[in-house]
Amino acid sequence: MAKITLQNLRHSYSANPTSPSDYALKQIDVDWQDGGAYALLGPSGCGKSTLLNIISGLLIPSHGKILFNDRDVTTVPPDKRNIAQVFQFPVIYDTMTVYDNLAFPLRNRGVDEARVAKRVHEIAEMLEVTAMLKNRASGLSPDVKQKISMGRGLVRDDVNVVMFDEPLTMIDPHLKWKLRSKLKELHQRVRATMIYVTHDQTEALTFADQVVVMQDGEVVQIGTPVDLFERPQHTFVGHFIGSPGMNVLKCELREGVPLLGGHPVALEGPINSGFGKFEIGIRPEFVSLAPQGLPAVIRKVSDIGRHNVVEAMVGDQRIAAVIDGPVPGQGDAVHLAFNAAQTRLYRDGWIATSPAKAA
Ligand code: ADP
Ligand code: MG
Repeated sequence: MAKITLQNLRHSYSANPTSPSDYALKQIDVDWQDGGAYALLGPSGCGKSTLLNIISGLLIPSHGKILFNDRDVTTVPPDKRNIAQVFQFPVIYDTMTVYDNLAFPLRNRGVDEARVAKRVHEIAEMLEVTAMLKNRASGLSPDVKQKISMGRGLVRDDVNVVMFDEPLTMIDPHLKWKLRSKLKELHQRVRATMIYVTHDQTEALTFADQVVVMQDGEVVQIGTPVDLFERPQHTFVGHFIGSPGMNVLKCELREGVPLLGGHPVALEGPINSGFGKFEIGIRPEFVSLAPQGLPAVIRKVSDIGRHNVVEAMVGDQRIAAVIDGPVPGQGDAVHLAFNAAQTRLYRDGWIATSPAKAA
């Protein structure tokens, strides 16, 4: 297994890139620690597959370097990088048995049959496919085929990294959670460096210890699921993660105090200096109904099981609040209170407040 370093990485598919929009990857600097479980999370088109293909060697970046354990592999071909990659669609041989499919990556490397048998049985146990080892792959359902595909990615124990590119896309929703938790368990058992690419926050947050959030060819934040939830470094992260996502509210700054619909709003701590477009960010979990506070009008109430999500209007801005207990009705006038410790200011999208120092 290896530590993977991406240094000053940029990539353009165009031969003569002229503007930033010509770059699928604008600037990437990341360290992936040996044995870590990482997710690469971002919307379709943000550059996730491009980044994976650069790590696996299918693509040579226009600028920058890739290091495995501090060794430069930027121009090393894919078959010399010792990487396992699991794709969106199952890659298995229909005419072979499940056993032979799982054995393939090992036999391909000249591993002896005794060792092949040991590894195949271990992986089959973990994936709960032992009973079908003798079956032809052609008769299997797509879910099972994808499970075997994952098994092929995990069977070698000498790889630098195992990469998964949206592996659950084709899987039935009710089976997704099962494979998702299986993968987490597999990581805990094999302890390989794993990179899991997805546009689905639930998949990323369940699988990874560290989530790398990408937007438009750039990394906007790297952190634990808790970091991403509690202190989004960018409004994009706040909005993309959580359901509903963080409220991002235009505000005006007057003498260092943000005003929302003319009312002052208390922040978590001091504002870093600078000019730009200011927005308040607060998660719906930290907005409550109160006897006094920001005047608002209820627009919609949705029951989401354990809680209600209340959407209230302050002027032309919509604020979501997660409320336990009784909720007002549509059209009611209410007051909203923000938990100040969880209320942050963003400047041009980036966080611009620091937490208050403990006394
Ligand atoms: P993701 O995997 O996050 O959906 P991709 O890495 O596939 O994103 O794509 C990033 C950007 O690069 C997109 O704008 C996409 O259209 C572009 N792109 C991807 N592959 C190619 C290619 N082979 N040639 C030209 N442009 C590409
Ligand atoms: Mg992709």
